Amino acid sequence: MSFMDLSGHAALVTGGARGIGRAIALTLAGRGADVAVLDLNAEAGQATRAEVEALGRKSAFIACDVSDPAAIETACKAALEALPGLDILVNNAGITRDSLLWRLSPADWDLVLRINLSGAFHFTRLLTRPMARKGFGRIVNIASVIGEMGNVGQANYAAAKAGLIGLTKSVAKEFAAKGITANAVAPGFIETDMTAGLEEKVREAMQAAIPARRMGVAQDVANVVAFLASPESGYVTGQVLRVDGGMLMG
Ligand code: NAP
Repeated sequence: MSFMDLSGHAALVTGGARGIGRAIALTLAGRGADVAVLDLNAEAGQATRAEVEALGRKSAFIACDVSDPAAIETACKAALEALPGLDILVNNAGITRDSLLWRLSPADWDLVLRINLSGAFHFTRLLTRPMARKGFGRIVNIASVIGEMGNVGQANYAAAKAGLIGLTKSVAKEFAAKGITANAVAPGFIETDMTAGLEEKVREAMQAAIPARRMGVAQDVANVVAFLASPESGYVTGQVLRVDGGMLMG
């Protein structure tokens, strides 16, 4: 058996159609896991499912809006039906709705909290039961350095990601004795559709603040998730692992 071998394990990756989620789905599959891809976007989600299958793994695409608790319940049932051994959950689906605080609408506050934070709670509540029965589980929540630093124009996003870190630590404490770990990965500035729209000025300023002098790529995040999903990370729980080229330290 090689290091970080995920054969015999099965994962659910939310927001797995595109960007960081897609890289996570393919990386876990590349290491031997079966992977259910959950997303709003059916076309891209089905394409990722086909890529997972091309790696020789079992997969399923599950259409779900993670802002809807009833849809999450249906999706978890479908995921467990498709992959009964599901023991890895990656809460990756996330959005931004940036605005300075005085202009931030209550609707955009609620939506960002529902998708980036409450969704992770609902999936964790439903999927920790089968993990506990198995005596093995890995939960990886994709947070952000913004959840630790705060950011102008991102009060909703920062609050959601800070909340996700608090959720991670509480779940870690509650489930540690059952063989289930919960960790957060906090990416810095990663090249995906989410950051593609940033002005060149902002991009240059951010890059100058990164000791590695480059933006990250989705694979940088996926590599760390693969470790946290693996049996070898069993004594790591309740941690926040930054994948940010050294942007935030301490
Ligand atoms: P992305 O390219 O925008 O991809 C996000 C994925 O989540 C998309 O596939 C999207 O589906 C899906 N999604 C959005 N809302 C959803 C919903 N309500 N229900 C189900 N799926 C939904 O973003 P990304 O950059 O890969 O970000 C992935 C995660 O990393 C997010 O949690 C983000 O906050 C975090 N992160 C990213 C960065 C960065 O620099 N990129 C930095 C720190 C943290 P659609 O295709 O339908 O939109």
